[in-house]
Amino acid sequence: MTTWDKSVDLAIVGSGGGGLIAAMAAIDAGLEPLVLEKQAVVGGSTGLSGGMIWMPNNPLMRAEGIVDSHDDGLAYLADVVGDVGPCSSPARRDMFLRAGYEMITFMQRKGVRLVRSAGYSDYYPNHKGGNAAGRSVEGVPFDNAELGGWHDKLQPGFSKNFGLVFLTNELRNVQYFNRSPRSLAIAARVFLRSTLARLRHQELLTNGASLIGQIMKVLLAQNAAVWTDAAAEDLIVEDGRVIGVRVVRDGSPVLIEARKGVLLAAGGFAHNAAMRRKYSADQPNEAQWTIANSGDTGEVLETAMRLGAKTDLLDEAWWLPSPTMALGASSLGAARQRPGTIFVDADGKRFCNESNSYVEVGKAMYANEAVPCWLIFDDGYRRRYSLTASSLPGQMPSEWIDKGLIRKASSIEDLARQIDVDPGGLATTVRRFNADAAKGIDPDFGRGQSAYNDCLGDPGYKPNAALGPIDHAPFYATEIYPSDVGTCGGLLTDEFARVIDEFDKPIPGLYATGNITATVMGRTYPGAGASIANTMAFGFVAARHAAGRLGPERPYRGATST
Ligand SMILES: Cc1cc2nc3c(=O)[nH]c(=O)nc-3n(C[C@H](O)[C@H](O)[C@H](O)COP(=O)(O)OP(=O)(O)OC[C@H]3O[C@@H](n4cnc5c(N)ncnc54)[C@H](O)[C@@H]3O)c2cc1C
Repeated sequence: MTTWDKSVDLAIVGSGGGGLIAAMAAIDAGLEPLVLEKQAVVGGSTGLSGGMIWMPNNPLMRAEGIVDSHDDGLAYLADVVGDVGPCSSPARRDMFLRAGYEMITFMQRKGVRLVRSAGYSDYYPNHKGGNAAGRSVEGVPFDNAELGGWHDKLQPGFSKNFGLVFLTNELRNVQYFNRSPRSLAIAARVFLRSTLARLRHQELLTNGASLIGQIMKVLLAQNAAVWTDAAAEDLIVEDGRVIGVRVVRDGSPVLIEARKGVLLAAGGFAHNAAMRRKYSADQPNEAQWTIANSGDTGEVLETAMRLGAKTDLLDEAWWLPSPTMALGASSLGAARQRPGTIFVDADGKRFCNESNSYVEVGKAMYANEAVPCWLIFDDGYRRRYSLTASSLPGQMPSEWIDKGLIRKASSIEDLARQIDVDPGGLATTVRRFNADAAKGIDPDFGRGQSAYNDCLGDPGYKPNAALGPIDHAPFYATEIYPSDVGTCGGLLTDEFARVIDEFDKPIPGLYATGNITATVMGRTYPGAGASIANTMAFGFVAARHAAGRLGPERPYRGATST
């Protein structure tokens, strides 16, 4: 007989979006949850992130009269994600959409303030069921002081790195402040908000930090138990049922009984070099390029695998093509979606629509043996766009060239020779690309021909916001790697977020959500916030299922029929 140090209804491992929303939903359903976070701060990658949540037919769209429907959401997932097996079964997609709708309504009811990311198109708006108006939402600016003693226990926010207080949907305009009157107006609003906050000694959180901060505020008001520095080390199983967790809290072992179950929301294994080496198959990497939260180390996933849990998509990640970490503070990660740039392989050939989803482009790098590939841009690009958060358009730190981080040449052929790319191949590519780009078309890859390409392109560039010739010497090149913001393969779960075993049966008492699972998004990225939506929707589902509020005999009848 186990002697427990603490007994709760739902033990939740991990304090990212999936874990915290589960705690909120558990309390709402009358359960006592306990959140266990191994780091000294809460939030995980969710807290570090842009904090967008992609949810078709969400209540904020409805409130603004944006036309969408549950069926369109399903059709879009079917068309974009395709058939990738049980991680994205029709039942899981249906649950994702229904629970997602309820979850956002629930958050609003509890006081989490969200705003629609207007104009942030789906990543494949031209596909069946696609929506260009924007299906994403994010948290409004939130005063960290509202968290009282918890104000210093949050992951640092995304926009904090830039010294500004912007919503993620504002960032695209801030970056184009000199390119259109509308972008300038939005950038001015961000600057004013940031300055006022500084003058008032206010720390305003936005992005993922606002999302986590606002949820934490609700949880703290309800006296929810959230433990930091508490690492889950093992699951405790009796007669095949998971009944608790062994935790090391502040260096001491603690045994937690979980009467209704354990939810694993511990993120993926982005930083676990051995696991990535073992599982990344034909998308090889050793965790060297990831920018996920440092706590993303996979030990909880391995524990569940030892219990006999089934897995899928372990080779997959939320890819994010990025320049070398030494250029991490530059804006060159966004360059592929702006006019005057291309990606090329060692033959000097383009291999994808550079403006498409980061996941698609990252996968294209692997599929075309272009790791690393080269970002090619011209002096027109340098003059139009700020290359760092603190520099003006036209400025480029000289050490970038001195240290060889950026190669510079007076002709395309010379540039090619410097980077060991076929000079004839690159010159042919650029000549062909330029002729089409001047007309605003890309017959090879269709760049600039979707609302998504357009919404992240340069609003001041004509005739196509995403396409422009590379024809102003000097020319520049920098290496691009398949970085990622997390892995997205792992435990197979059913539509109730129950972990499935090798015999396709749920493991009693064990739930999982987020990057520790094989995502419902499969091998694609349908829209801005698809990853956080995935972890939060199934975290919400797990808590409601554990509370007996949801199950085969108690399906969602949510307001999702139109
Ligand atoms: C810079 C950046 C920007 C991004 N922008 C977006 C965006 O706008 N929209 C979007 O959808 N996605 C975005 N992502 C990706 C997204 O943030 C993650 O994929 C998602 O938040 C993962 O959620 P999760 O709940 O699975 O894990 P996390 O949010 O990472 O939470 C997992 C938590 O579990 C903890 N943990 C791990 N092991 C243990 C253990 N043994 N015991 C206890 N705790 C443990 C971790 O420390 C962590 O705090 C971004 C990511 C980054 C890094």
